Amino acid sequence: MQTGTAHLFIPGPTNVPADVQRAMIVPMQDHRAPDFGGLLDDVRKGLKPVFGTRTAEIALFPGSGTAAWEAAIANTLSPGDKVLIARHGQFSMLWAQMAQALGLRVEAIDVAWGAPSPVREIERRLGADKYDEIKAVFVTHNETATGVTSDVAGVRHALDTCFHDALLFVDGVSSIGSIPFEMDAWGVDLAIAGTQKGLMCPAGMGILAASPKAQEAMETSTMARSFLDLRAMLGAHEAGSFCFTPPAQLLHGLCAALARLQAEGLGNVFARHRRLAEGVRAGIAAMGLEIVAEHPSFASDTVTAIRTPRDVDAREVIEIARTRYNTQFGAGLGPLAGQAFRIGHLGDLNEGMCLTALGIAELSLKAAGARVELGAGLAAAQTVFAASAPAPAFAIAAE
Ligand SMILES: *Cc1c(COP(=O)(O)O)cnc(C)c1O
Repeated sequence: MQTGTAHLFIPGPTNVPADVQRAMIVPMQDHRAPDFGGLLDDVRKGLKPVFGTRTAEIALFPGSGTAAWEAAIANTLSPGDKVLIARHGQFSMLWAQMAQALGLRVEAIDVAWGAPSPVREIERRLGADKYDEIKAVFVTHNETATGVTSDVAGVRHALDTCFHDALLFVDGVSSIGSIPFEMDAWGVDLAIAGTQKGLMCPAGMGILAASPKAQEAMETSTMARSFLDLRAMLGAHEAGSFCFTPPAQLLHGLCAALARLQAEGLGNVFARHRRLAEGVRAGIAAMGLEIVAEHPSFASDTVTAIRTPRDVDAREVIEIARTRYNTQFGAGLGPLAGQAFRIGHLGDLNEGMCLTALGIAELSLKAAGARVELGAGLAAAQTVFAASAPAPAFAIAAE
């Protein structure tokens, strides 16, 4: 047992605000009763602006983000279809692996972990695809392993420039609800999220938004699907429920979380994430450390992956933070294990929390043998925060 507040600075699950927690303390209810449909409708309607769509249909699958990855594939593609995907971190790599496991032919573009999806190379591959073999392009909007945000609009432009008809799949699990996401404007066909990152809820549902073109593809797709059948789920949603028992508490939580996003205003939510991320990055730079993202122009505003000095094992930094300071940082994933740790800065977060993360990172790094000057990172972040307006307060309309 440790005293005081436990600090959770991982990029998901994120901190669940107290009002969202309270909204989930409700008696069990009949998910086939007529009043359930109202809750489900509110959630699906509330998600649309967060996804930046008016035209897509939203389906909720009990599961996690990974379930929505699979639902996107299994409902719109057919075995043997070719898909184009850049691998530049743990999540894009796992998604490519899943595509392969489900019987797709994966044309992978391997780029450095720390680089974004390479728009020019994607355009070149699409241009070279004379027989339209590529049926889908997969983009991991925010690669959570490296803290890199990719240019989805750029990939759409590449598809349009090549007059290529492939579906555009986008993993927005660690971006949607935290940084701008424009499903309609970017021509995204399948957008994927989970409940436990920017949406500030516990894990438990994968969220899939399907464009009209994706829904058309559903008619000809021959991949096997059962639990994750999108047509069946959309039909059940229209009728006010799910194909099977949904996590009703989570829907109440999601409804409350969406009310928070709406009350704060999405523009303010995005500006807050930008400002907090800039403070964290300034703090890390002032500690003399490098981030995994190769260039600040595509450093993520939701998570920062930080390289430890060569002689400092990042696992030790994480372990010191956990055991001495009651604080969780994210681990370096895959080849970054031991070389990097991550600070998640998305969801329900403010300046004070970021300063806590940086202060504890300094203490833990120093204890692990890094030559950091205590307070240098804090001061740099404070300087950023002092120069920018804090997030405006907001009120949530009472039920
Ligand atoms: C967290 C995450 C996932 C996986 O989501 P789960 O909810 O753990 O299944 C996929 N993609 C990205 C970019 C993520 O950050």
